[in-house]
Amino acid sequence: LTKSYGPTEVLHHVEGEINDGEFIVIVGPSGCGKSTLLRMVAGLETVTSGEIAIAGRRVNELEPSARDIAMVFQNYALYPHMSVRENMAYGLKIRKLSKAEINKRVEEAADILEIRQYLDRKPRQLSGGQRQRVAMGRAIVRDPQVFLFDEPLSNLDAKLRVQMRLEIRKLQQRLGVTSIYVTHDQVEAMTLGDRLMVLNGGYVEQFGTPIELYDRPASVFVAGFIGSPAMNFLPATAEEDGLLLPSGIKLVAGLAQRGQVLLGMRPEHLIPDAAGPIAIEVEMVEQLGANTLLHGTLSGTDHAMVASVSGHVSAEMGTVHRFAVTPELLHLFDPETQKRLEA
Ligand code: ADP
Repeated sequence: LTKSYGPTEVLHHVEGEINDGEFIVIVGPSGCGKSTLLRMVAGLETVTSGEIAIAGRRVNELEPSARDIAMVFQNYALYPHMSVRENMAYGLKIRKLSKAEINKRVEEAADILEIRQYLDRKPRQLSGGQRQRVAMGRAIVRDPQVFLFDEPLSNLDAKLRVQMRLEIRKLQQRLGVTSIYVTHDQVEAMTLGDRLMVLNGGYVEQFGTPIELYDRPASVFVAGFIGSPAMNFLPATAEEDGLLLPSGIKLVAGLAQRGQVLLGMRPEHLIPDAAGPIAIEVEMVEQLGANTLLHGTLSGTDHAMVASVSGHVSAEMGTVHRFAVTPELLHLFDPETQKRLEA
C-alpha cells in the first residue's frame, strides 16, 4: 500500500500478510503513519495505490460497514445519552437483527467482559476501564472477521493500562478474532502482539515476532525502539581479531565484518566483571528495586552508556565500573544504511 495526502506520500509500499486469528501490533513513534494504515484497512481512508484484501476478498472499494470489521477507538466513541446496553446494541439494530438475537449477543459479550451489572447505566456512570470494556463489547457483539484497535488504552492511567492490555490479550485469544492494534508504546506492543509491524516515517522497518525484534533487530531504529532502557550504540571498527571501541579497547570477537560499524549492546547484556573490557564512568544511578541502572559514559569518551544490573548495586558518581558482554549478544549495524549487519 501507499498513501499520499496531496503531493505528500506518508506511507511507502507497506506490505504484509496477517494470518487468521493473529494479533498484529502496528507500532512506531507519533506521525509514522500507524493510524492512517489502520484507517485504510477500516475503510475510513482511501488507498492511493495497492490493495487491501480480507479473507482473499479485495475490500478497497467497500464501505467500512461492508468490510466485516469492528473498530475500537481511544476515545471510546460511546453515545452519552444511551445506556450501556443500547450502546452495545446500536450497531446490531441498524443491521436489523431481531430483538432476541441482539439481547443474546449483548448479554454474552457483557458476560465475557464482566459488565453485565452495568448494562442499564449511562457511560458517565462508569469508570474509564468500564467504558473501555463497553467499547470492546460493541465490537464483540458484531462478531466481525477483524478487530481494529486505535490506541484504545491511551486515556487510561498506567496501572489500568497494564490490566486492560492483559484483558484484551486474553479476550482476543479466547475469541480467536484476527486483530490489528495500533500503539506508540513499545512495551504494550511487545506484550500484546503475536507479531509487530514497526513503522518509521511511513516505512516498514521490520515485521516480526517480539523475540525476533529483540534478538535480531533489522535496523538501528528497531534496535533503539524495542527494549527498555534503549540499546547502547557506539561507533566501532571491525578488525580481524575483534571490535575496536572508541575508548581504544578491543572487544574480542570473531567477525565476518571489516571496517566502520555501529555497535549495539543492550544495557541488560552488560555483565559486571572487574576484568571486563567495557568501562563505564558512572554519572547517575537509578535504583529500580529489581534492578539498578548505571548511567554514564564509556570511560575516556563522551559516548553515553547505560548498564542494567539485577538487584541492588551502589555506585559512587565518577567511579568506573567494568562490564563484559558475550559476543553473541553484540549487534552490528551499517553506519550508512543503518541496517543490521551479520556479525
Ligand atoms: P500516527 O498514527 O503514527 O501518529 P498518522 O497516521 O496519524 O501517524 O499520520 C501519518 C502522517 O500523515 C503524518 O505526517 C500526518 O501529519 C499525516 N497526515 C495524517 N492525516 C492527514 C491528513 N488528513 N492530511 C494530511 N496529512 C495527514
